[in-house]
Amino acid sequence: MNNLSILPKSHLMPNIRVSSFSLFVCIVSIVCLSALAMAQTPEKKQQSPFLLPLTNPKAREQSYLSALEILAKREFEREHNIHFPRLTRGNPKRKELALTFDDGPHPIYTQKLLAILKQFNVKATFFVVGMMVDKYPDLVGQEVAEGHEVANHTYHHLRLPLLPDVNIEEELSNGANAIERAVGSSTRLFRPPGGEYDNDVIAITKRLGYVMVLWTDDPADFANPGSAVIEKRTLQNITNGGILLLHDGVQQTLDILPDLLMRLKKQGYKFVTCSQMATERGIITTGGPRIDPPPAKKLP
Ligand SMILES: [Zn+2]
Repeated sequence: MNNLSILPKSHLMPNIRVSSFSLFVCIVSIVCLSALAMAQTPEKKQQSPFLLPLTNPKAREQSYLSALEILAKREFEREHNIHFPRLTRGNPKRKELALTFDDGPHPIYTQKLLAILKQFNVKATFFVVGMMVDKYPDLVGQEVAEGHEVANHTYHHLRLPLLPDVNIEEELSNGANAIERAVGSSTRLFRPPGGEYDNDVIAITKRLGYVMVLWTDDPADFANPGSAVIEKRTLQNITNGGILLLHDGVQQTLDILPDLLMRLKKQGYKFVTCSQMATERGIITTGGPRIDPPPAKKLP
């Protein structure tokens, strides 16, 4: 309406049909632009902290940054001198990969996943969700006992940029505390849900001494695109120093994992944990304050 009111009256009179159409286009444009603006600049304080519960796979599916978006964001931050401890990939000269499994532990799938990893003698990094850790602490104990790395994927798996600072900090601290309750020690490796972060998340990551871990390859297994699709996407994109994002709790991933591991091993890839990769890159220094790897805990 505002656009219409600033037009001179003579402009409105000659052709009512054109003006009505213009008005319609204006209204549609304003509505679309408003919706876009709201989507891009969410109001932190007015949002419920429970926007993306883990139990809503559709919401989860829409929230992931692609590897290309992560790369573009990193370049933008470099250009603007925004630096913080972050691992986005390993050494491109080394034929090694970090296999990461997010969102567990899961009462049905975690043990099946661990059995496959054991069969192929592959160590992975599990980015666990605190509320799941509190429900199934023994599964996290088993992950550590079998030589895998456990890292922080927050407590509730919420979209961090939408939260007030105090809640972002709680998400990280409570996630770390849940891991500590389960295995007796905690971690300084952290992955934001969906890979989403902003300047507040960066500031808190730095203040709490975390290393943010992202990924180079995301075959989107969470969306259940079909086992063959997950495997094809993974194999065609994999590169030296890659960090592969998969999920604990997806049957299709379990279906292709043995074949995928066999093929990657045949191609000569070695599997390392994210801590090993970050240490090799100099992001975590030996004996430094940033990482406190959890010791192996014996199962009862
Ligand atoms: Zn996640």
